[in-house]
Amino acid sequence: MHCSLRRFPLTKAIPLTISRGTTAVVERLMVSVEHGGITGFGETGGFETGHRHYDSDAIAVELEALFPHLVGRAPQPLQALEPLLAELSPPARCGLDLALHDWWGKRLGLPLHQLWGLDGELAVPTSVTLGLGSVQAVLQRLERWWAQLPASRIKLKLGSPEGLEHDRALVEAVALALEQRSQQQGERLELQVDANGGWDLAGARSMMGWLAERGVTLVEQPLPPLEDPEADCAAFAALELDCPIPLVADESCWNLADVVRLAPFVDGVNIKLLKSGGLSEALLMAEAARRLGLGVMVGCYSDSALLNGAAAQLLPLIQWPDLDSHLNLLDDPFEGPRLESDRLRPGLEPGLGVRARDAASDSERC
Ligand SMILES: [Mg+2]
Repeated sequence: MHCSLRRFPLTKAIPLTISRGTTAVVERLMVSVEHGGITGFGETGGFETGHRHYDSDAIAVELEALFPHLVGRAPQPLQALEPLLAELSPPARCGLDLALHDWWGKRLGLPLHQLWGLDGELAVPTSVTLGLGSVQAVLQRLERWWAQLPASRIKLKLGSPEGLEHDRALVEAVALALEQRSQQQGERLELQVDANGGWDLAGARSMMGWLAERGVTLVEQPLPPLEDPEADCAAFAALELDCPIPLVADESCWNLADVVRLAPFVDGVNIKLLKSGGLSEALLMAEAARRLGLGVMVGCYSDSALLNGAAAQLLPLIQWPDLDSHLNLLDDPFEGPRLESDRLRPGLEPGLGVRARDAASDSERC
């Protein structure tokens, strides 16, 4: 097979601020795998979680060093390539893993969810994200989402550098706006919050019951992720008893071993393909988490419809989809997941279920 990389920019319609900073424009990498007249595509890019950081240039260096070793080899069986993939960082592995899965699905002529035996017609509302900002700015962002789609699940970012008082003001304002819209529409809207590790233990403990009283339905990653696995579990364990609503691990949960490690202390996990290193691990994580009685979220970073289309192939296994980054882009080169009102289904194109938007790439369906 012949592999190549292409860099492309993604520009957010509305910049997103979380506890660790603001994102407006990112550079992404598209991985192409060509073999036997079929080309598979994958996406990767830099991201950071507070305790780990990856940048696009280093990911590109890793992949370009590997590509010559793939010449003369076939994309299947994937098992034969696993030792090479295992050497890569999670985001580098993600780009290649997705391109190999895309190639496999195209070779067989089916989208991945059908090859996995999943029901692609199950559809669950995706959450849409409200970043940090002034109360007025966050309410304006909410109205803008509602002008775009009838979002019934809102994820509010907390962990504001301005402190817990500002977080509480945001929750009060957004909960009120959701209550008013719920009454108008006769449909209950859902408020989730994500602190992105922005609280300390005392602050997190003070927030849990308060959030539950305001009708918040889940809280994601209250405390910073820790490199030491035991200390990381102990941090979730210290919150568990204070938390009357589902407690979800995101930045702390990267792979199947993390799902198993965290399962006794959390109610759910947020799977992201850049953390897991692609779909091979993510599918295992989603299946295992469900069997362990956990709720499963699938999330995104600043990803295009190519990466979110890949993640969308897992949607039939997901209780809390959070695939909204591609809905906030001005220049997405791809289209993939099917969106009906605020419900997402996996795309039906073979492989990742994604195709390029621009005419120049239409000859290569991707
Ligand atoms: Mg999160």
